[in-house]
Amino acid sequence: MDAFTLIVASGLASAIMAMAMFFLYRASRRELCLMDWSFAGLSFLASNIVGGVAAARQLDHFLLPAIGNAFYIAGHFAIAAGLRRHLGLAPRYLLLGLMSTAIVLLHLLPFTQASVANRLLLFTPMIAVINFHVVSLIWRLPPGPERSAYLPLLVIELGFMVQLSLRTVYMVLNRDNHLTFLGSQILQTSGSLCVLVFLSVAGMCCAVIVIRHQELALRKASLTDSLTGWLNRRALHDAAHREFERTRRTGQPLAFIAFDIDHFKSVNDRYGHQTGDAAIRHVTDLAAHALRGYDALFRLGGEEFAVLVTGIAPQQVLHMAERVRALIEATPLPTDEGPVPMTVSLGVAALARQDASWEAALRRADNALYRSKKDGRNRCTPHELLVAAAA
Ligand code: GH3
Ligand code: MG
Ligand code: MG
Repeated sequence: MDAFTLIVASGLASAIMAMAMFFLYRASRRELCLMDWSFAGLSFLASNIVGGVAAARQLDHFLLPAIGNAFYIAGHFAIAAGLRRHLGLAPRYLLLGLMSTAIVLLHLLPFTQASVANRLLLFTPMIAVINFHVVSLIWRLPPGPERSAYLPLLVIELGFMVQLSLRTVYMVLNRDNHLTFLGSQILQTSGSLCVLVFLSVAGMCCAVIVIRHQELALRKASLTDSLTGWLNRRALHDAAHREFERTRRTGQPLAFIAFDIDHFKSVNDRYGHQTGDAAIRHVTDLAAHALRGYDALFRLGGEEFAVLVTGIAPQQVLHMAERVRALIEATPLPTDEGPVPMTVSLGVAALARQDASWEAALRRADNALYRSKKDGRNRCTPHELLVAAAA
């Protein structure tokens, strides 16, 4: 296959990657990793331009492969840097600066200038290490809905690394072959084809990561209350229905703790709405702390909350509720006008065998909560059915 055509095709694929990543960044500027990936596309493009110009003009200066290889490794590095940034790690461009300088300096050596094969032997391990870094970063990600979005990048980087390693091993074993810069041997043509495929697909893999990430973030936002970070009523519906079905299958207990802040109107009236909001956050933070390990925490409305507890005996759920009450009572809200005491009233109810839906249990927890209010507030009341079940 014509090697010059492959360089032009790779250059086009690089330019498309650079532009696609840049326009995606313009659409969502918070995703800075897209700029790393756009830079990756530009670096590959620059590498192809250097290669293409050298080939077209038949130039033979050692600086040309030096610059071409430095750009080429920068492209691979920038893909890894973007992934690192996306995962909240430092992109480490200083390391790229050092690597690029080392690459240019290595081209001063007679060994490097001697042949294309020597250059490939020197630089392919560097690229394979970068590919391996990307693969290992993705491999170590915790399982979850987001992980699957990284898998296409893992596959393409792993595939590229394997073919690089195989070609390097082949070259070590066949030191007598004479590669030329635009050689048309199978070894070189297949290598250029792999680069072309890699460049054509890598941009898409990066885009999948960002798009999936944004989709999950949007879904999370639509289910989360922005003031407290607790889940909202819509999320309760989904989660409780799921747990209800599971409980029906496994026979595991399911219970609700419902609670409401006491005399909250007076906090708003006396200290203002902003302090009122701070009070809601204060109470939910304390409750979350007392319920460490539970993430089924819901804000049902204003200052009314529910906790969905599964797999725990009713008596223990009561203890959990009491822990929440005691911690909130013991921790006043700090304000500019001094500490403001806060209390909550709670109700606890478990799902009973005859319940047709989870809503029956939540309704009973709510009734028990209103009993707490009637009995003087700052207390925790189990519903009669829960008491009967625990007896
Ligand atoms: P009780 O002890 O009987 O619960 O008395 P309460 O004053 O807390 O009464 P209630 O639960 O009915 O109070 C609800 C008040 O909560 C009314 C509303 O002004 C306030 N509220 C609801 N949502 C918010 C919010 O997001 N921020 C603030 N600051 N106030 C809210
Ligand atoms: Mg209230
Ligand atoms: Mg209320």
